[in-house]
Amino acid sequence: MLETLKKHLTQTSFKTQLLLLFVMGLSILAIVVTLATTVSTHYLMENMFITRNKILVEAFAKQSTLALLYGSEENSRDAVRIVSAFQSVEYAAIHEVNHKRLFEYGKSVPGIDLPPPYPIQKELDAHWVFIEPVVVMNPIDKEPSNGGGQSNQKPQFLGYVKVLVSKSELQTIQSTIVLSNGLIIFILSAILYFIFRKLVNQMVEPLQTLTRTMKKREEGQTGVRASLQGAKELHTIGEAFNQMINVLEEREEALIKEMHSREKAEENVRQHQRELAHFSRLKTMGEMASGIAHELNQPLAAIVNYTGGCLERLQTEQTVPEFVAVVQKINDQAERAGAIIHRLKDFLRKGNAVTESVDVRLAIENVLKLIECELNQYEIKWSVQANECPKALMDKTHFEQVTLNIIQNAIEAMKENTEGKARLLTITVGLSGKEMVEVSIKDTGPGIPPEILEKLFEPFFTTKEEGMGMGLSIVSSILESHGGRIQVSSMVGEGAMFKLFMPGEGIRDK
Ligand code: ADP
Repeated sequence: MLETLKKHLTQTSFKTQLLLLFVMGLSILAIVVTLATTVSTHYLMENMFITRNKILVEAFAKQSTLALLYGSEENSRDAVRIVSAFQSVEYAAIHEVNHKRLFEYGKSVPGIDLPPPYPIQKELDAHWVFIEPVVVMNPIDKEPSNGGGQSNQKPQFLGYVKVLVSKSELQTIQSTIVLSNGLIIFILSAILYFIFRKLVNQMVEPLQTLTRTMKKREEGQTGVRASLQGAKELHTIGEAFNQMINVLEEREEALIKEMHSREKAEENVRQHQRELAHFSRLKTMGEMASGIAHELNQPLAAIVNYTGGCLERLQTEQTVPEFVAVVQKINDQAERAGAIIHRLKDFLRKGNAVTESVDVRLAIENVLKLIECELNQYEIKWSVQANECPKALMDKTHFEQVTLNIIQNAIEAMKENTEGKARLLTITVGLSGKEMVEVSIKDTGPGIPPEILEKLFEPFFTTKEEGMGMGLSIVSSILESHGGRIQVSSMVGEGAMFKLFMPGEGIRDK
């Protein structure tokens, strides 16, 4: 029960809690005050009631003196009439000393019948009984020695009067007082409640404003600040809230900026990737053309030779002139085709490479970033070791293309390796001699058998189902075009290591 009340209280607003507490306090106070006034009023009224009736009975006793002295019914009736004029007096009687009833009014109630040497008052269920002796003072003698000439008096007990007073009047007065007390306290409580409610409203308003402000912020509104009003503590809370929001908004702004710059950087990386892919396609096509040119060059040269020989023979012997002309045409066309292929090879060899200073380590890390997803996908651990930070002299995109090709081959080799062997890609950057930068790329793939090693750089050589066999041939020709070279070494079952050499910048001076 108490728990439920507690739970209920914690769910209601601060204002309701304050009002509830006040109402509870006020109710308890009202009850206590009502009880206290009721009890005190009860005793006060009772005392007043007894005193008044005592005076009345004493007066009645005095009025009854003559009646008892002379045993007169007339006098008795007069005395009783006076006392019975009071509404609450239900019974009144005059008794002689011997208890004989001289006169009575109303109906007696069984109660008290003691011989009254002294006044008696006794409370019954619905009545109070008052008994008062009737006494006269008789003079006994005169003593001159007393100086004052006063005479001593002796009381003579004549009888007694008995009065029965109903409590109903007292009870009516008491309940009226209790009711009016209750009403006054209720009205006062109501007035106090309304005053307190107004005060609480004034007190709680700044707190409610602060709560509303916090709610707005929670719903995502920006630029919301607490207005500093109300009690000192609310000021402090408001200030703390404003400070917190300031910090929060600064952080949000910084975060948005960071997100924008990260998006930009990612877009740059994507652009770079697109360029590399485009370049790769172009290069592959170029190399394919180069390969085809290389392959076609020999048969074309053979055709030219054979047709040249034929022509010589045809011209010395008797032949049909048209036949000579046709062979001549074949020879011309073959030479023309040969010239085209030479031009194509020349063009491909030169390319449009730009020589620039490439920070080797940085360029390798860029390439690793590009294929980080793939490395993670196949759980390949990689490391770049560089004691020196050399710079290579070559086209930066070409350098990236070369390393990307070798690393991709290493990934493809290692992803087949499922025998629980660790997949490690180790890249070492260093110097070779006085002029060259050396980059070695080592993997823990299946390795390359010696018979394959020789053919590795030939165009169209591949052991992969969907391979083109152009990658290494391109790598080799790119490096050569920049004055560099490539080497490979491998132990079957252990892995392969490709070493790239390229001219370095300012190495000689070191
Ligand atoms: P492709 O990758 O299209 O086959 P490449 O010229 O790049 O063409 O490679 C030629 C061949 O060299 C591959 O088919 C593969 O057999 C072999 N090779 C290249 N790199 C590795 C390596 N790291 N480990 C084992 N074999 C390799």
